[in-house]
Amino acid sequence: MSDTVFGKIIRREIPAQIVYEDDRALAFKDIAPQAPVHILVVPKEPISGISQAKPEHEALLGHLLLTAQRVAAEAGLSKGYRLVINEGEDGGQTVFHLHIHVLGGRGMGWPPG
Ligand code: 5GP
Repeated sequence: MSDTVFGKIIRREIPAQIVYEDDRALAFKDIAPQAPVHILVVPKEPISGISQAKPEHEALLGHLLLTAQRVAAEAGLSKGYRLVINEGEDGGQTVFHLHIHVLGGRGMGWPPG
């Protein structure tokens, strides 16, 4: 896949407000937050989207969810939060490096837009 802005953040080529990092994942604040807490959890491996994940990514995908759980707890989202993965054009994906949105700090509407 081609490089994205998230690849540049992972390599520290552009700045971001990083809230968590380990050998497989990075979490940082969204540049245009849609809620009082809006964090993005990304794999360091550049998978372009959830549709491109393969069986060998099973453990990594679980790790990303647990990382989302961790950063939500660390952000104090004790009343709940929403995790979102946008996929492709109809899903509203704009950055083609897999990421989980962690949104919280306000009540979320349903259905989503
Ligand atoms: P998507 O629409 O692909 O699901 O989400 C991409 C997200 O990345 C958007 O919420 C957008 O605000 C965020 N974003 C785009 N460029 C940057 C950037 O340079 N830095 C950070 N921190 N977030 C970004």
